[in-house]
Order: sequence, then structure tokens, then C-alpha cells
Amino acid sequence: MNSDQMLALVYDKSTMPWDRTRGFEKQAVPRPVLGPQDGDHVVIKVIYAGFCGSDRGIWNRVAFKGMIFDSLKRQKATSRVIGHEMIGEIVEVGEEASRRWGYRPKDIVSTESHIICNMCYQCRIGQTHICADDVIIGIGRDGCFAEYIKLPAQTLWPTDQRKVDLKVAALQEPFGNAVHAACAADLRGKTVAIFGCGTIGLFAIMVARALGATRVIGIEPQPKNIEMARALGADDVIPLDVEHTARNGWSADKDLVARVREAFGGIGCDVALEMAGFNSSVNNAIQSTRRGGDVILFGLKQGNFRIQAMDRMIVSGITLRSVIGRRLFGDWYTTRNLLEDRTNGIQDRILDVVLGGGDGAVVHIEDFTPDRFEQTLADWPKPLIQF
Ligand SMILES: [Zn+2]
Ligand SMILES: [Zn+2]
Repeated sequence: MNSDQMLALVYDKSTMPWDRTRGFEKQAVPRPVLGPQDGDHVVIKVIYAGFCGSDRGIWNRVAFKGMIFDSLKRQKATSRVIGHEMIGEIVEVGEEASRRWGYRPKDIVSTESHIICNMCYQCRIGQTHICADDVIIGIGRDGCFAEYIKLPAQTLWPTDQRKVDLKVAALQEPFGNAVHAACAADLRGKTVAIFGCGTIGLFAIMVARALGATRVIGIEPQPKNIEMARALGADDVIPLDVEHTARNGWSADKDLVARVREAFGGIGCDVALEMAGFNSSVNNAIQSTRRGGDVILFGLKQGNFRIQAMDRMIVSGITLRSVIGRRLFGDWYTTRNLLEDRTNGIQDRILDVVLGGGDGAVVHIEDFTPDRFEQTLADWPKPLIQF
């Protein structure tokens, strides 16, 4: 490999037909450098990158085809470097990134994954996390499953590695999702049910607790995730029987809802966080929530959903609210506060439980093969790729 090249995990549409392949390919690709137009950019040497649920969607060819293909067409390119969760060290700084933002080589930074336009209606009124013209790293432009990445200074998040372990620091972006979801309703002194304990649901258990929720119960089918949810501090985890739920199609699982309501004194939870995105799970969440409660919708699947017993939902005065991304940069500051506060035990539990002590879940890029990584994906909710 030449010194102007680097290792990266890519989806290449010229060699990997979308419908007949899966996984990413390890390739030597050109290493990014700052050009004359890149005064407000930096080049970062990636240390750890987190493998997101949306990366699983691309790996399995079930999500983001349109966004990847459209952006490749615009760039007249065939391959996309995947990945959007990372921690790394700055190695090259543009003039403006240095003068205006104060970045220096060796600074440790993470990054917001949505690069916003600063000009659309939402950006102008301060709702930048729902920018109408944003570009997602690792989907609409090259991402961080690579030894180096070039990014604009405005998306970076400086991180103090004396206070946040680098493996945990690589997960600030998805942790910020949990912060956003948990901040979408007032959890102080409230009871919370979390439907779906994948990575962000697991994070949400700890965030809800730290924000003052008094009772936190998870609902989850996978035994390993159930075990993790308990270890992270859930008061209880109610197993969801996938086959039983599937028999009901899109509608709620009556037996499950009865168990959840019972777990909250027969009243139902104050707040439901729906983190799974299945139609039945959305109905489970609504049906399990008390009159006047809040249902926060974070789980994401394409297509039409059906709401069961709409009249009951309205008569009960239940609030539905959708949450996407992280509010810039308020949720990043909350993320920093929660991670740097060692008294809440969040960092240690991410390391010990979610990352299993840091060994099995971490794969070095040199050791990456698509087949071996399939096993890592099966074993861990949140693999890290080390560069
Ligand atoms: Zn993600
Ligand atoms: Zn915008």
C-alpha cells in the first residue's frame, strides 16, 4: 500500500451488486488530504469507530440504498467508505479550522454524524438536528471506517481523554441519541418503560436513571440484551416472545401489555421509549402507557404503520413524539456531562457490560474479514473497529 493510501471498509456498487451481496470490503483507498477549498476542515486519524444499527442495515442491504446511490451518482464515484461513530486524533488542520475553531494537531475529537447546511429554515430557527439539507457521514459522504477522515470543523466534538475512555468516547454519537430520546419527556420522579434494549435502548436505561426516573423497565426479546439491561440497572426486564408477538401481526401483544402495565402498578408507565421500530412494538408502547403519559418514538423502520385503538389513545390524552439524531450541540453537552461524571457509573458499565470489557467487541482493521465480522455482529450489540 502506498503512503497516500489507507485501509477502509467500503461498499462498492461496481463490484457488490446491492441485491446479491452483503457486508463491506476492506480496500486500500486514497487517503484524504486538505485541498485549497478545505480551510475549515481537518484530517483525523481514526482510533476507534463504532458499528451502528444503520451500518448493519447497509451490511445486510436493507437500508440507505437510495441515499448511498444518489450521493455516489452526484460524486461520479462507485464506492462509499461507511461509518459515522468515532474518536480520533487530528493530524492536519485547515487555516480557518485553526484560527476560528482553535483546533490543533493531536487534539482528540469525536464528531456529530449529520453535517448541516446552516441555511435551511430549520437551521435558521435553531432546529439544526432536522436540517432539510444535511449530509450523513458514511452514507452521503465518506465515513470513518477508515484510517483517516476529512471533516468540517463545525461538526467536531472535542473530547478530554483523561475524563472519557477512548472506547466509550467513540460511542458519544449513539449515546447522544439516548440522551435526546430520554430528554424528550420529563423523567424526573417518573416511571419509564423502554421497548427494545439494543445499544441505544441499553444506553437509555442508564440515561433515564441519571435524569431521575424512579423505575425503569426494559422490554426485549434477546437473552443477551436482557442480561445486559439488568446489569446496566433496569429494575426488571420483561422478555418479549417474538413468535407470540408475530402472531398478532402489527397489533399489540395483549399478554405483554398486561405484564408491563402490571409492572407499573396496573396503571401503566408514565413514559414509554420506543426504540425498536416495529409496528407491534409501537402499539405495545402506546397500550402500556398510562393516561396522560408520553410515548417517545425513536425506532425507525420504513413503510406504513397502523395505530391500534386510536380512540383510546386520544381519549387517554397520550402524547406521541418523534425523536431523531441529537440536538446540536445541547445533547452533546449533556452526553459529556453524563460521561464525565464518574459517580453515576455510566462509563464503567459501558466498558464492562456493553463492550464486554473491551476485548471481544473490538476488532482491529488488520484482522477484519467479512466472515469473521459476521460473528462479531452476532455476538455484540456494539462492535468497535480499531485503526
Ligand atoms: Zn449511528
Ligand atoms: Zn439546514
